[in-house]
Amino acid sequence: MFALLSIYEVLLHSLGPQGWWPHPTRFGKIVGAILAPAVKWSNVEKAVENLEKAGIDNFQALNEVDVNYLEELIKPSIYFRKKAKALKCMAQREDLLNKEGSLALREELLQLPNIGKETADSLLLYSWDYPIMVVDAYTRRVLYRLGLFGLPNEKINYDDLRELIEKALPKDLYIYQEFHALIVRLGELYCRKKPLCVECPLAQKEICKKVDIVERS
Ligand code: SF4
Repeated sequence: MFALLSIYEVLLHSLGPQGWWPHPTRFGKIVGAILAPAVKWSNVEKAVENLEKAGIDNFQALNEVDVNYLEELIKPSIYFRKKAKALKCMAQREDLLNKEGSLALREELLQLPNIGKETADSLLLYSWDYPIMVVDAYTRRVLYRLGLFGLPNEKINYDDLRELIEKALPKDLYIYQEFHALIVRLGELYCRKKPLCVECPLAQKEICKKVDIVERS
């Protein structure tokens, strides 16, 4: 079985550094982390662009904007009602911005309505630069198809799978940030629901068997 670090290195070499989140401000990174779950990054970019055009580029503006208008602006990010509520709640907790990333902060984030573990960990990893792994649907799909961590890993609970991945990688912020971003990129480009195994870098390096899975919806 290939070590997770080897898989990371192949992905980094073939797909290149992803540099998440590609936004210079913490506000932008927080918005990106909240909008990202269950949607392609290109959709997140459209939603962020809409927010910026509307002048919502800080917490005060986010606090003041009408929630229905906010929903319209972030519609491309799907689940926009839930995400609008999460953004509104986050805007009211500007005090959290002054805190260091930690597991205690994770607990505080998880107390906010509509912030689940994936979003909380995404916020910590990319907005607070705290080394914690994010587990999303792409992660589960890719690791399952690679045959890592036992089968089926859909049934492994979130925190158990997160800790398994963390233990399999060096505890390094850059590696954690890039690993998650690379898995998402792999999922978007190749390891789709109907995978494009022939073109996949993990198949070309003979790390993953060309399973050519066709999942029934
Ligand atoms: S070879 Fe196919 S199943 Fe394996 S990671 Fe690549 S796209 Fe996914």
